[in-house]
Amino acid sequence: MSDCIFCKIVDGKIPATKVYEDEDILAFNDINPARPVHVLVIPKKHITSLATVAAEDGPVLGRMLAKANEIAVAQGSPDGFRVIINTGRVGQQEVPHLHAHIVGGPDPVGPMLKRL
Ligand code: 5GP
Ligand code: ZN
Repeated sequence: MSDCIFCKIVDGKIPATKVYEDEDILAFNDINPARPVHVLVIPKKHITSLATVAAEDGPVLGRMLAKANEIAVAQGSPDGFRVIINTGRVGQQEVPHLHAHIVGGPDPVGPMLKRL
């Protein structure tokens, strides 16, 4: 999609610090990291969100998760990490190109959510 910032990163039109890439997925450092390790893993194909995946997208979603540990370890989170996929308005997704946040580092990342 031409006006999508993550598609522009895939196409090399916006710079990013890439940490992993293969035919189907790209991982790069978040521009505004929330933890010492904060990587975004995206499908190279534009998928807007988890709310809009098609049946055929299963393999690329699996690949994003299957590569998460390798990426986390390589970036400095050897003892676990958290994966967050914000989805839509309620999930407060800001960038409408599906992405998994991998957050971690040497220390535990903190509580999952503040309770209401
Ligand atoms: P969301 O709220 O959609 O789950 O998260 C979007 C994430 O994308 C945010 O953590 C934000 O810092 C990151 N982000 C937004 N624009 C850019 C960009 O141009 N480059 C990189 N590397 N990260 C971005
Ligand atoms: Zn896109």
